[in-house]
Amino acid sequence: MNKKNILYCFILLLFLGACSPDKNNKSVQLKDIDKRVIGLLNKMTLEEKVGQMTNIGLTAVCKGPFWNATDSLEIDTVKLNKMLLTYHVGSIQNKGKYPPSVAEWTRLITKIQDVATKESRLSIPVLMGIDGVHGANYTANSTLFPQQIACAASWNPQCAEKLGEITSYELRASSTPWNFAPVLDVSWQPLWGRIFETFGEDTYMASIMGEAFVKGSQGDDLSNPEKTAVCLKHFIGYGNPYNGKDRSPALIPKRDLKQYYLPPFKAAIDAGALSIMINSGSVNGIPGHANYDLLTNTLKGELGFTGFTISDWEDVAKLVITHHVAKDLKEAIKISVLAGMDMCMVPYDESFAILLVELVKEGSVPMERIDDAVRRILNVKFKLGIFETPVSDPEMYDKFGSEEFANASYEAAKECITLLKNDKNILPLTNQTKVFVTGPTANSINYLNGAWSRTWSGNETEYNDKRKATVLEAIKNKLGKENVSYAEGVSFEEVINISEAVNLARKNDVTVVCIGEKPATEIPSNIEELEIPDAQVKLVKELYKTGKPIILVMLQGRPRIIREIEGLAQAIIMAYLPGQEGGRAIADVLFGDCNPSGRLPYTYPRFSGSLWKYNHKGSDEIGAEGFNPQYEFGEGLSYTTFSYGEPELSTDTIQGENSLEIKIQITNTGKIFGKEVIQLYTKDLVASISPDVKKLARFEKIGLEPGETKTISFQINEKDLAFVGKNNQWTNETGDFKILIGGHPKDLKVKGFYYKK
Ligand code: BGC
Repeated sequence: MNKKNILYCFILLLFLGACSPDKNNKSVQLKDIDKRVIGLLNKMTLEEKVGQMTNIGLTAVCKGPFWNATDSLEIDTVKLNKMLLTYHVGSIQNKGKYPPSVAEWTRLITKIQDVATKESRLSIPVLMGIDGVHGANYTANSTLFPQQIACAASWNPQCAEKLGEITSYELRASSTPWNFAPVLDVSWQPLWGRIFETFGEDTYMASIMGEAFVKGSQGDDLSNPEKTAVCLKHFIGYGNPYNGKDRSPALIPKRDLKQYYLPPFKAAIDAGALSIMINSGSVNGIPGHANYDLLTNTLKGELGFTGFTISDWEDVAKLVITHHVAKDLKEAIKISVLAGMDMCMVPYDESFAILLVELVKEGSVPMERIDDAVRRILNVKFKLGIFETPVSDPEMYDKFGSEEFANASYEAAKECITLLKNDKNILPLTNQTKVFVTGPTANSINYLNGAWSRTWSGNETEYNDKRKATVLEAIKNKLGKENVSYAEGVSFEEVINISEAVNLARKNDVTVVCIGEKPATEIPSNIEELEIPDAQVKLVKELYKTGKPIILVMLQGRPRIIREIEGLAQAIIMAYLPGQEGGRAIADVLFGDCNPSGRLPYTYPRFSGSLWKYNHKGSDEIGAEGFNPQYEFGEGLSYTTFSYGEPELSTDTIQGENSLEIKIQITNTGKIFGKEVIQLYTKDLVASISPDVKKLARFEKIGLEPGETKTISFQINEKDLAFVGKNNQWTNETGDFKILIGGHPKDLKVKGFYYKK
């Protein structure tokens, strides 16, 4: 038996081990599933097994023109029969241009599942998957939540849990039990266009939010018809392309991979995540899809992942076309399957299935590898209960697109909005104010939602829910139309009518300028510079000359540089991509119906030449004037004030595995109710690997009435003080540490303690 076969057997044992003791019903069920998987696997031909490893796009079984279909898709029976009956394809994903309704999804998926379950030899249902990244965003009239980055800004894990829960419900209503979310890439690269899909720059934050998302999505029992299997993305290192462009190479030391990038995936795997999508780019020169060490040794070995891995879109072919590590598709398939890829997002044809069968017959890919992959995939299909119910009954989902779900999205949007500046407490505005609203993002639902909203780019207006309010409309709803004027001023990059904007600004009390980014993801989201486009800068500069106070509202995924205009605005609101209830939420913050409580989930750079993360190294600061971003990770203001007592530590020495309790009193010293985020960082003073200047270890969001005081307590232990040492292993070192605790990164209370191994 060669080394790889030994590893597959080891993984199989781990997998069986994970399903073994039948102490309660759940483990009995798991054992049953295990038996069913093995029973089925034993009946399958090589071709049927390889078919299960094949994921195609819906386009491969539909009549054309697929990508331009604007209102209806038709399944092409000949294509469907070929894919499902000749090539035994086991999984289908994606959609055409328009977002199908629940009824339309039911119609399409019933046709697919009828062939799979009634006409195929073994009646194995197709696993339908889709990107439900901020709601069931590819189903018409579904609930659209704030994007993940906004959820992170809430610093409230319940936001991520709700996102997972409601997305799952509405995806299941659409007969799709498998969701390509959450994105657990930790990104320190502000140029990268997919930051909005992540939980920001911090490892601990991404771990907590990711775990909450998995809990909300999968629950305790996946056969529950309201739950979906998650697909963690994109394993691993995808979020840090060094040139800032999507899908391009990353250089990440092995130590850093372990310390900063793996923990969110580990936390989600420990929470039960059942599938993982592979990084389309490369890390240290090795493409994600060719990385045996990461996919098999690390993911399936060290992290004990028993679910299945799927390639990203067409990425096996890209091993030939862009990465140049394989001479042809057949070699690319061999490399990726041997590296540990279990399912291939082909997505257009049957070539993967044909070539993989050939590779197995030639002896280039061992049957054990195929069995391991198929076992993992079938296991998820059984857990999801799709053998019993391949198509959902839409009647069971009366909460789809409901008021209740819209309200959950609205509450989440309110929690994420981050007040970054409020000179002379200009905000909240009174209801008597006459407001001029302008800017490219002011009157658009698309700019609130961002990409992955009804369409991939999120730019089409025809699929927007007409009942939802843009920022402009929401302000009008508050003040009455007669008190609000509007001119677009500039588009995203072009000047339109700045002089009209200036004239209107002069006639009003306050100018609300809504700037930001055009919806985009993946390669179309690449940018050449981080600065906010010139046209938007020009608009703010001209409006400033009117002497009327400027409130800047930013709708963007990335932190686009605003240095030139920051000083011209009296108040700044960062709203990220708050989803389709975001207009209402922003207006609530502007007029004080909501006291903002979001905090930045990333460092907001001041200069494009100073792109540091908050947990940088002391030596990063050499030759610079210290750490001087526009705003720090964790920053965010409130309309009330909070005061902190002195932190109390239960001991001044942590010994071994003992824990340290940190207590602190917080009082709302202002006049209104407010939510505060208590942030606790640790700082290692001296270590054999240059330590981070500080590291987030815990956080909690609480609500306080005026005058109310609460005592918050956190426990930390040696795990929170560990780092990956020179030998690439998690390590603890005896020495002095500090606790930094408080509500604002520039104003943290500090207390020292000693850790003894
Ligand atoms: C993206 C993935 C996505 C997949 C399927 C890819 O291009 O990188 O995040 O899940 O497409 O839509």
